Amino acid sequence: MPIAVPTADELALLQDEAVAFTRDLIRIDTTNFGGNDPATWGRGETEAAEYVVAKLREVGLDPEVHESAPGRPSVFVRVDGQDRERGGLILHGHLDVVPARAEDWSVDPFGAEIHDGMIYGRGAVDMKDMVAMILALARHLARTGQRPPRDLLFVFFADEENGGVWGSDWMSRHRPELFAGMSEAISEVGGYSITLPEKDTGEDVRAYLVQTAEKGLIWGRLRATGRAGHGSVPNHESAIVRLARAITALDEHVFPFEFIAAVRALFDGVTEITGIGWDEETIRETLPLMGGARQFVAGTLGDSVNLTMLEAGYKGNVIPQTAEATFDARFLPGHQDELLALLDDLTGEHVEVVIDHIGNSVDSPRDAPLVATMTESVQAEDPGARVLPYCLSGGTDNKALFRVLGITGYGFAPLQLPKGLDFAPLFHGIDERVPIEAVRFGARVLLRLVRDC
Ligand SMILES: [Zn+2]
Repeated sequence: MPIAVPTADELALLQDEAVAFTRDLIRIDTTNFGGNDPATWGRGETEAAEYVVAKLREVGLDPEVHESAPGRPSVFVRVDGQDRERGGLILHGHLDVVPARAEDWSVDPFGAEIHDGMIYGRGAVDMKDMVAMILALARHLARTGQRPPRDLLFVFFADEENGGVWGSDWMSRHRPELFAGMSEAISEVGGYSITLPEKDTGEDVRAYLVQTAEKGLIWGRLRATGRAGHGSVPNHESAIVRLARAITALDEHVFPFEFIAAVRALFDGVTEITGIGWDEETIRETLPLMGGARQFVAGTLGDSVNLTMLEAGYKGNVIPQTAEATFDARFLPGHQDELLALLDDLTGEHVEVVIDHIGNSVDSPRDAPLVATMTESVQAEDPGARVLPYCLSGGTDNKALFRVLGITGYGFAPLQLPKGLDFAPLFHGIDERVPIEAVRFGARVLLRLVRDC
């Protein structure tokens, strides 16, 4: 028995709650400063988790809170489906946000002010909007007593902005039983629209990008060693010079373009809509077509290494024995070993590559029935829209769910965005904001998805 179509009142309440919860959650400052030192942890995640739990209990649901460490809670709540034998679907979001410097913003980053139909605040798109949508959705299902086709698990994670160390990664490894029976997951960063010019007519067509793949990451340091000494004595074994050579070698390395299947499918889809072809030579010209997704897509054409921090020396007339640089390397699905070997090769014999953290890549099936249901759900709410896969250059909690538990994850936090909105830079950006109508749209699409999943 399929879930009944909601009444107008039920649908209105679902959407109103998604908007109200987005604002409430932005007002709870859940800043994650990173690091694994409890002294630097705030209280925000606990307050946000308490908020979510209260909203779930209010409608008779029975959420569980599990802490990876004191003050690092993740919230779990299950909704039973009609077919208990089928693999379940996880809808997850993270409660934390990256820091916001109030002096850089035009509004209070934790004020959730509304201007021109947009909710402003840290977390507006990353990702209190989606957290609010799935919270409102869980409440809708509880209120109406509807059972989706299969089991659903709603999870509100801590610590995503620190690689999920105290959130998705910890929960997957230490509490796998909490995810029992689940086979697929949806979360950020996908399901939002870009606007393309249709071939022949030139009219606007919205394309929604479902994230089916994400790059992996290697965070680490280059540690150069040399001969220490007095600043007046010639020294050809300087750690600083050796480090500089290694950095130069990495910077001069040209990473070749490689178009993985998910990226190809995106560009082919864009060509089909716009009539504008693409190839390796013209790809830089094709990128602007991606509108608000341009920055996300630009990073998915190959592997990359960026140097992010430097440390060497302690006195102007002392040659130090060591010098260190921090790097952030990103690899396409399947390229992890290749990139590790390249780092070793390029940095030379006096520079050790110290690996601090590896985050796996994700490459989920694009032909899964769930992706077809996403497409139908979007098109039911936005007739004529197209849905295309894409690879995310960043990372999400889907990494841990896949690596540890084998759960297939997708980025699907649906938002219908206005044509000119440059979406990707809003993530971790200044004046982060989300259109109210986009949140209402997302709540309706997600309801359709769980109704038909
Ligand atoms: Zn996020």
